Amino acid sequence: MPGKNLSRDEAQQRASILTVDGYRVRLDVTSAPDPAAATFRSTTTVAFRCARPGTATFLDLLAPAVRSITLNGRAIDPATAFDGARVHVDGLAADNVLTIDADCAYSRTGEGLHRFVDPADGETYLYTHYEPADARRVFATFEQPDLKAPFTFTVTAPAAWDVWSNAVHERVDTEEGARTWEFAPTKPISTYLTAVVAGPYHIARDHYSRELPDGTTLEIPLSAMCRKSLARHFDADEILGVTKLGLDFFHEQFDYPYPFGKYDQAFVPEYNIGAMENPGCVTFKEDFVFRSKVTDAAYEGRANVILHEMAHMWFGDLVTMRWWDDLWLKESFADFMGSYGLIGARTRYSSAWVTFANQRKAWAYRQDQLPTTHPITADIRDLEAAKLNFDGITYAKGASVLKQLVAYAGSDAFFEGARRYFKRHAFGNTELADLLGILEETSGRDLKSWAAAWLQTAGVDSLTPQVTADAEGRITELAVLQDGAVLRPHRIAVGLYDHDSDGTLVRTARIELDVTGARTVVAEAAGRPRPALVLLNDDDLTYCKIRFDDASLETLRTGLGEIGDDLARALAWSAVWNLTRDGLMPARDYVALVLRFAGQEGNIGVLQSLHTQAKTAVDLYADPAWRAEGGRLLADGALRELRGAVPGSDHQLAWARFLAQTAGGAEHLGLVRGLLAGSARIDGLDVDQELRWALWLALAAAGQASDDELAGELAADNTAGGKRQYTQCLAARPTPEAKAAAWSAVVDSDELPNALVEANIAGFALPAHRDLTALYAAPYFKLLEKIWAERTIEIAMRFVGGFFPSAQIGEPTLAEADAWLDGHPDAAPALRRLVIERRDDLARALRAQACDRA
Ligand SMILES: [Zn+2]
Repeated sequence: MPGKNLSRDEAQQRASILTVDGYRVRLDVTSAPDPAAATFRSTTTVAFRCARPGTATFLDLLAPAVRSITLNGRAIDPATAFDGARVHVDGLAADNVLTIDADCAYSRTGEGLHRFVDPADGETYLYTHYEPADARRVFATFEQPDLKAPFTFTVTAPAAWDVWSNAVHERVDTEEGARTWEFAPTKPISTYLTAVVAGPYHIARDHYSRELPDGTTLEIPLSAMCRKSLARHFDADEILGVTKLGLDFFHEQFDYPYPFGKYDQAFVPEYNIGAMENPGCVTFKEDFVFRSKVTDAAYEGRANVILHEMAHMWFGDLVTMRWWDDLWLKESFADFMGSYGLIGARTRYSSAWVTFANQRKAWAYRQDQLPTTHPITADIRDLEAAKLNFDGITYAKGASVLKQLVAYAGSDAFFEGARRYFKRHAFGNTELADLLGILEETSGRDLKSWAAAWLQTAGVDSLTPQVTADAEGRITELAVLQDGAVLRPHRIAVGLYDHDSDGTLVRTARIELDVTGARTVVAEAAGRPRPALVLLNDDDLTYCKIRFDDASLETLRTGLGEIGDDLARALAWSAVWNLTRDGLMPARDYVALVLRFAGQEGNIGVLQSLHTQAKTAVDLYADPAWRAEGGRLLADGALRELRGAVPGSDHQLAWARFLAQTAGGAEHLGLVRGLLAGSARIDGLDVDQELRWALWLALAAAGQASDDELAGELAADNTAGGKRQYTQCLAARPTPEAKAAAWSAVVDSDELPNALVEANIAGFALPAHRDLTALYAAPYFKLLEKIWAERTIEIAMRFVGGFFPSAQIGEPTLAEADAWLDGHPDAAPALRRLVIERRDDLARALRAQACDRA
């Protein structure tokens, strides 16, 4: 499609001549419940000024048809002006009014206006999702973040529906079978932040009010909604409770009243991402409505996302990056604030920094060691590149670096900087220099070299302790060695640990210092008794990979689980995982650590990470000759811990799920079947709907679930979630026919919605079925460019990432990937990036396997 991929140069050019005064957008979605209706009517009137009258410009619009275009009263022929992606207009005046009347398409991919029909009751639901550039699928826009404007939405919808948007509605007019909702104009916001949610949603309401320093009272109506059929699972009180704590906290920290009036939070079906910070109308993935028991880690994760999105109301919505190069200006902050806020707002999730150290940082470390890694401030030339930049660098590394900045510049300077930033740039757009300038004012530090080292370079450093001791066992010197492409200034704490009388490893000394260059001596350590464990980056202040001296590593091998402090233990787990990924610790040694100590891991989020990582270690990083034994050991361990777990506990549930993921032998699968049939019971374990599907998946993957049995389970759970699980189970069956059907469902048709594309891929790609899926490697490489060209980017990304032959770990697959890359130097850079990343994962697995074999 011509011009679908807007470039930064084009956006800059447009911003240099245009000022947008406002949009009026009229949508008519009364056809939505009719499955035969593919489109809805969309009429946009945009008022804008042009600094160079007489010149031409274009609007962005991805629509099947344009009915009419009128510029300043003059009709323009859509046949020549509209090319499928852009509406070209020329002869601009100084002041312009442009109306574009179009037919836009309902989406099944989560991009634009998504339409979903609930299998449970037949109801239809709509919501929009735009970031970075899909507002143009719903109305005609200048699709770039720095052309902010007030938006006035009018939506005509079926009479029984409710409609929400960024602003409150001012009136609702009832017509024959329909109602028209007129919304108030928004504050000036970017196109990607506009939103509409419509349907017979279940809604819970609440209210927040707050005395402001000027004596006035800020009133914020709150609401939370989900599909009607999920209402009985919807814990709106918990959601709105976190919301109110967050509003208190961010008002205290940011000293800028919430600028968008009301605060709605919609939990919507088939959502592509975790959540989106649309001002006043946040959208979340529906998996956050828990229809079965989940562990507390899931509640913490949801609360984190609620606060992340709320922080965006200031970082991102009130002040917005000029272009996608500075996406981190909002995402790093919001990611940091999600964890910081869980503690600061006094939610019950007091281990937020443990989760951050263990999970968010793992994401960053992985991404930062890929050949495609990039500085936190990126060079984003176009929208396709922007789409791929919602990654572990922009979010998790950025947030880690802000955590380091707080340690380096002090939290007072950091938050005073934020306060000035909001006041100075309210409703505007910014770049890195705007933020740095303010932080230099408030910290009194020159941050240019800090920013150059941390924001403008890529890669992760490793820090290794070097310990020498005398004959009496006293430290003569403790040094920190830094290794990496860029040697950075690190503010770190060094923890020295020894066993106490109970055998717990406890910190006996904490030394905080600046590490710079390749070798830094920790002067304060000299003369102390040599400890059992030296833990660098204790308290997780900086962003680095931690290594160990030999004695400390030996301590971990025999006593990792004895570290008493949750955060220190999480850091140790993270470090040994990095050693495994880097081919410095054999995968079977890592598995042995998990089998030995995971049973006593108290932090449920850490435990669930250990499960995922141990499974990956066996599937990808272990010598194939040991793989089957490793799998058996995991399943035996899961069963042992499941039987030993406290009845009804989160840990029990986590081990049950891990058993489902690892079950292979007759004993384990027999128990799985018994749990499903009710003939086996584990005291306190509720085999609820989601657990049932996890157990069915284990049987399906082992070839032990019949079609009738799976269909019967779906009949008992005829819901959106049930359909997804059922689809995954079908694709997970170990037969050539099942794999062919899953492949074909995704590849041969574009009818499947995003959620079912994902379910098919997940079932297809089980590592255990590598022999069955091997023959798909060749067609995969052959189809890459075609799929990239023909599908929306969300679906194409799933295809490229999900069907890559990741389980075919060997030199031939590496050679196939290289051949494709060599043969397609001009393929879309975003497509090449995805293939390069998967290829690198494969090369890493080969290195890890070599280590495990040796
Ligand atoms: Zn975000």
